[in-house]
Amino acid sequence: MIDLKGKHYLVAGVANKNSIAWGVTESLLRAGATVALTYQNERLGERVLALAAEQTPPLDTHEMDATSKQQVEEVFGKLQDKWGKLDGLVHSIAYAPREDLQPGITRTPAENYLLSLHISSYTLIELTRAAMPLFEAAGGGSVITMSYNATKVFPNYNLMGIAKATLEQSMKYLAWDVGRKNVRVNAVSAGPVKTLAARGIGGFTDMFEQAAKMAPLGRNVTLEEIGNASAFLLSPLANGITGQVLFVDNGQNIIGAG
Ligand code: NAD
Repeated sequence: MIDLKGKHYLVAGVANKNSIAWGVTESLLRAGATVALTYQNERLGERVLALAAEQTPPLDTHEMDATSKQQVEEVFGKLQDKWGKLDGLVHSIAYAPREDLQPGITRTPAENYLLSLHISSYTLIELTRAAMPLFEAAGGGSVITMSYNATKVFPNYNLMGIAKATLEQSMKYLAWDVGRKNVRVNAVSAGPVKTLAARGIGGFTDMFEQAAKMAPLGRNVTLEEIGNASAFLLSPLANGITGQVLFVDNGQNIIGAG
């Protein structure tokens, strides 16, 4: 059992109880951690505030569009005032326009490409930068982000596949950049999960069913399994691990086509 009593984490990217970020939050809470959540905007806030209020003690929540430098600074300022340190950060944020989540990258306009990479990849750098003073106060920190098998092509995943490749490489450069300050940065590459974001991907149900058929374990991964592996990376048990992609996909990624 991982013991995270006395440790403080910020989880960015809960939209509802099906979110991968919520699976991570539940694992962190089971391990005794103190967790604060951010949500993208007021519309999504309602569900997140309700989930946070159901916990004992209730979780702190903050509105934060990760592309708003001002909101990011405000949130980390509040954490500085309340906790004075941070032990870990969960980046579970991604976006691509629906029309770019089906085959046809030649149709993707520059503005969609840049928007998707800004939200899905650059914000990892932005949030890590903002967290650094709090990590330093804690004597180190651990950051995780959520990827999806970024070295492979899934025709419907399209623009998001490109964003994930950029995200994984950003994760590795960050790991180098902040490593000497005892901050670790890793990615969890999860198998498909039925979430709000996943619903936008063309043919997602087929991807989901195919993943279970292909995976050595013969089933889809659960939020609890992703959450537990994430809690491990966020814990001192993973102190020697940085710059890595940890697959939590029941082994699907090792299988070749055919
Ligand atoms: P989700 O819809 O529950 O979470 C996506 C989150 O991104 C939402 O909370 C949304 O509000 C947030 N977001 C989007 N734009 C934002 C912005 N500008 N500022 C702040 N937040 C913003 O879906 P999810 O599947 O849990 O996605 C979480 C992460 O997991 C994503 O990076 C996703 O690509 C990744 N992932 C998902 C799957 C899957 O099959 N669902 C598999 C592997 C990786």
